[in-house]
Amino acid sequence: MMRLLGHGICGALLVLLIGCAAPSSPQAQASDTATCYVCRYNNDLACVDVHVKENTPRSEYAGKTYCFCSQGCKTAFVKAPEKYLPR
Ligand SMILES: [Zn+2]
Repeated sequence: MMRLLGHGICGALLVLLIGCAAPSSPQAQASDTATCYVCRYNNDLACVDVHVKENTPRSEYAGKTYCFCSQGCKTAFVKAPEKYLPR
């Protein structure tokens, strides 16, 4: 019996999902930028500027739409919006 060597891709994909999504869009289209308030609150300056795209995590709060650099930041914001918003 031969064994198939089929594993190898697992793991590499995980790395892409962890940490902030790098805002590296080769074709700089007319994309809006927003502030990730969660990262700003955390002084995570590398991720504060968010390039808003179709799939950018966003949440509405108090009549405004806020965009985030990652799903994790959105989750944190939804839990306690007032903690992160500027006063
Ligand atoms: Zn963030």
